[in-house]
Amino acid sequence: MNARMTLLFAGVLLAAVPAAGGNALPKPVRDPRIAALVARIDPARLLADDERLVAFGTRNDFSDTSSTPTHGVFGARDWIVKQFRAIAATSDGRMTVALDTYVQPKTPHTPRAVTESSVIATLRGDEPGRIYVMSSHYDDCDGDCTDGKGFAPGADDNGSSVAAVLEAARAMARMHFHGTIVFACFDGEELGLWGSNHYARELAAEHAPVLAVLNNDVIGNARGGDGSYEPMVVRIFSQALPLGTIDARVNAIGSENDSPSRELSRFVAEVTPVYVPGFSVRQIFRDDRFLRGGDQESFQNAGFSAAVRVTEVHENFRHQHQNVRVENGVQYGDLPKYVDAAYLARVARMNVAAIAALALGPAAPGNVQMVLEHLGYSTTLRWTKAADAAGYEIVWRATDAPQWQYARPVGDVLVATVPVSYDDYVFGVRSISARGLRSVAVYPEPVRIHVAPPKGSSLP
Ligand SMILES: [Zn+2]
Repeated sequence: MNARMTLLFAGVLLAAVPAAGGNALPKPVRDPRIAALVARIDPARLLADDERLVAFGTRNDFSDTSSTPTHGVFGARDWIVKQFRAIAATSDGRMTVALDTYVQPKTPHTPRAVTESSVIATLRGDEPGRIYVMSSHYDDCDGDCTDGKGFAPGADDNGSSVAAVLEAARAMARMHFHGTIVFACFDGEELGLWGSNHYARELAAEHAPVLAVLNNDVIGNARGGDGSYEPMVVRIFSQALPLGTIDARVNAIGSENDSPSRELSRFVAEVTPVYVPGFSVRQIFRDDRFLRGGDQESFQNAGFSAAVRVTEVHENFRHQHQNVRVENGVQYGDLPKYVDAAYLARVARMNVAAIAALALGPAAPGNVQMVLEHLGYSTTLRWTKAADAAGYEIVWRATDAPQWQYARPVGDVLVATVPVSYDDYVFGVRSISARGLRSVAVYPEPVRIHVAPPKGSSLP
């Protein structure tokens, strides 16, 4: 049996249909378990936690290093640990809370070395090989990121996200997931992504299977400084292909828009409206805003390339990295009165829906390949078995479309052919669980297979 016949017999060859006919992307199933988790998110508790963080006066990385339980970044850290410990007590021993501590040496931009710690709560899943991260940073910065003395409320940047991570952990701690979920509150973000960098490198050294990172940073308001207002939209920033993976083949096969971060962004955009009605993700296909950065970069740099940034839809720069003051009648500063609890709750629910769909759903198919055997009018894909998959689905979209447009379930097989030309579409494969949950789609690596011509053929 030659390679082509093997493919035909091992998989399914589906009847020819035009790209759109009968292949519209199905609306994701609404899993009642996920809906129940999302319903636990409480706007009042989010606001109360954010206000509690603000009450530490400053969370500057150079605030007082003496043990001060009520003031400064170290008091805030201890408060976050206490919250996670209370949450872990509800998890049946599956959640552990740890400090990731390190000494950050003095840099040209900092006054001295400083010992810092990120707070990491890990909710263990029942399968190895799958880790999903929801992250935030708890340090903050007013006009001067090394001045630990001033009032730096940091309500939106980034008390909003710490509150969301805590609330998500509260909502999810009792549920048993397939994947392990890490709830992370990093320090040292404002001065150079120190905390996330230290933690991501540790994960890389352990070869930890981090499959997705939703890094939340500035998620508490939908009203921009220019008056723009969209309370039902959030932005997700996703990088293009990671450095080191870009070569001439990218141009040849047109894979530049199918990095792991973009597939994760597409997944979150698809799942969100199912659990947060009317709320949508605006996918921004770049790593971050201009002149800015975030903790997702630390994960990317450590080799975990499915890492995206979640940020409010419009920002108000009068309320970020500003000393609290009134100037010409205008209030500056990152104060809690500018945090919109209802909006923050929507973003927190989006996180819970996406992380729960990942960790309750099937693992993504492995080693996905597009088989290039000869010039033709169809597309053959193959992959390896995924945990918790009851079947698989081929998805595709026009090369200039941002989101998957078409899908076809192909059953519990490891190779399948769809009668759509690979020349004109981008393809992916995703797993389907018995309950109908989908994994993130995996972009196929094109592989060329050489088949000997039939005997007596005049073809070269
Ligand atoms: Zn920030």
